Amino acid sequence: MSADNPLLNTIWKSACLEIKNSLGEDAYIRHIEPLKAIDVNDGKITLEVDNEYSLSWIKNNYLGIINDAMSKVAGDFIKDVSLSVSETQEPIPSPEPIIPVQDMSSDNNLGRIVNIGSVNVYSQSNTTDPHSSNVRGIKMNAEYTFANFIVGPSNSFATNAAFAVANNPGTAYNPLFIYGDTGLGKTHLMQSIGQDSITKNNRIIVCNTTSEALLNDYLENLRNNTVEKFRKKYRSVDILLIDDIQFLAGKAALQEEFFHTFNTLKERGKQIVMTSDRPPKDIDKLEERLVSRFSQGLVCSVEHPSFETRLAILKQKHEQNYKVPIIPDTIFNFIAQNVESNVRQLEGALRRVEMHISLNNNLSPSIEAVRELLKDILTLEIQPGLTFNEIQKVVAEHYNLNIADMASKCRSQSIALPRQIAMYLCCALIKASLGEIGGAFGKTHATIIHATKTIKDRMSTDPDLKRNIEAIIKKLGRDPVATINMVDGY
Ligand code: ADP
Ligand code: MG
Repeated sequence: MSADNPLLNTIWKSACLEIKNSLGEDAYIRHIEPLKAIDVNDGKITLEVDNEYSLSWIKNNYLGIINDAMSKVAGDFIKDVSLSVSETQEPIPSPEPIIPVQDMSSDNNLGRIVNIGSVNVYSQSNTTDPHSSNVRGIKMNAEYTFANFIVGPSNSFATNAAFAVANNPGTAYNPLFIYGDTGLGKTHLMQSIGQDSITKNNRIIVCNTTSEALLNDYLENLRNNTVEKFRKKYRSVDILLIDDIQFLAGKAALQEEFFHTFNTLKERGKQIVMTSDRPPKDIDKLEERLVSRFSQGLVCSVEHPSFETRLAILKQKHEQNYKVPIIPDTIFNFIAQNVESNVRQLEGALRRVEMHISLNNNLSPSIEAVRELLKDILTLEIQPGLTFNEIQKVVAEHYNLNIADMASKCRSQSIALPRQIAMYLCCALIKASLGEIGGAFGKTHATIIHATKTIKDRMSTDPDLKRNIEAIIKKLGRDPVATINMVDGY
């Protein structure tokens, strides 16, 4: 079976969604996205990598995760994952010079830099991308374009604003600030601005980054005494896109530095676009002068999509990637009706159904079978009965603590960690605003976000913690995998 085989595409796309959920966006883009699924035969799927370095790096670090994802999406259908080096591989360059992954400033945008363990190797594989020399920072997702974005009442205001900015960067609305809950298309819209403006004007330089990548880059330059280089890099672009700017909260030195970058860009008529999970004025520990600057242009929100918009998104996602297998309208309707909270989740449900149909000789399942297939996602949507109190109680019991410890100010690690776990689980399992969750713990919403992220990060390196959290989720009667995936994006 060849690379344009729909079944192969379905399996690999579905597995990629799973892998992205467990690895996070950055590692996914860096290590998994460059892989190509080229063959599926007799229970074995073959993935192609650029060169021998990538092969051993993937084998040693990611094969386990890829295998897990495969068995989750394809069950027994795929028994083996094999890796092969592309026959058209470029000769492997010497691993020197060592160039930091984040550093894609103008003098080194000749090719993509791939982080291979402790050394960074140049990969020429992306030089065919006509726009690669226009983009600095994090590579943009080629699918995040205006053409692929479904507009409905929930996002039309933000989309129009984004479109205006792409047409007239630096003059329409500056800065443009887009906020809203997770999985509602903020990153997609922001990157659409970057990609569309390059298409319209190939001299435009776009820097796409996140506040976390910005922080890492800043610290790296600070350590190396090269802050001037950092300044030059971000102040010499035409459009600066910063995702999840809320994580600037509490980072005083970076806020100071960013204040000047912001002013310089604005004075020069350069465009700034930011996304966040809340409006500027609600970001705690953000300097007042930044709050006021972030609000100077246009602040707009993306809301939860209506049923019609959800349906249109499903059909478009299906069209975009496969068109086959054929999915009956009753199933599209069922998914759109029942998966309301998050477009990422909507896409996950669709991929699962596509997989199921592909693996069953293109026969459509009954609605009952779809309900069974999507059981964990639907449980999350309905979430009957779970309260903050219940979650706090189960976590406290699991760690032999008093329920009062869950809302106490005690900083001892033996209490602080379970408390953060409880916050994380409230985010995953209860449809409530961060402010409401904060209230249940006597904390601010910034603390809830911080706790959730801390737990998410620690879980990826600490299997013991992960096992404990999975056990707690089971005690709460929920599915651990679906619950953990739900928090992706916080
Ligand atoms: P956010 O940044 O708000 O958390 P993303 O931009 O990452 O959300 O969107 C999550 C997923 O949902 C992406 O795959 C994105 O393409 C998709 N998505 C969200 N809204 C839409 C939409 N209106 N039309 C098409 N796809 C959408
Ligand atoms: Mg996002």
